[in-house]
Amino acid sequence: MPRTPTAPNPPADPTAGMYVLHLRIERPGPPVRIGRLGAFEFPRTDYLYVGSALNSLWPRVQRHLYQEGKRHWHVDHLQDVAQPLRAWIAVTTQSRECEVAAALAALPGATRWPPRFGASDCRCPGHLLRLDASPNSIRIAGLLGDLGLNPASFLPGPGPNR
Ligand SMILES: [Zn+2]
Repeated sequence: MPRTPTAPNPPADPTAGMYVLHLRIERPGPPVRIGRLGAFEFPRTDYLYVGSALNSLWPRVQRHLYQEGKRHWHVDHLQDVAQPLRAWIAVTTQSRECEVAAALAALPGATRWPPRFGASDCRCPGHLLRLDASPNSIRIAGLLGDLGLNPASFLPGPGPNR
């Protein structure tokens, strides 16, 4: 009699990489508490957030796109006010997010704000960019490409559990 194969535990997703999340705040709300940084009134506009994952890159990005899971990172505190519109992800084993945040901060109309947002584990001025207009997705992908990354872009479609 054939033995029923037991399903192994799925291996941890080893994919490391970085991502850029495009968020939009449609209407200003009450101040949002961002961990120890304090509480901020986020103006109604578009934002880019740069993050990284040492592993499980895709589950991490999916979590952001579908706003699932516990609040752990600074960006999770924006779940109630911000709508995720797009994510660019790039597989890399190098730590590139501070460099990418700096490159995005140099775009016209981009301001790092609030200071030190998402930068608890590094020394840079912050990983959230407030924009004065909707970002040009081709330009963002081009900027990542210029940094030697090979980004793929994802939109939040109907979620896996919806
Ligand atoms: Zn940084």
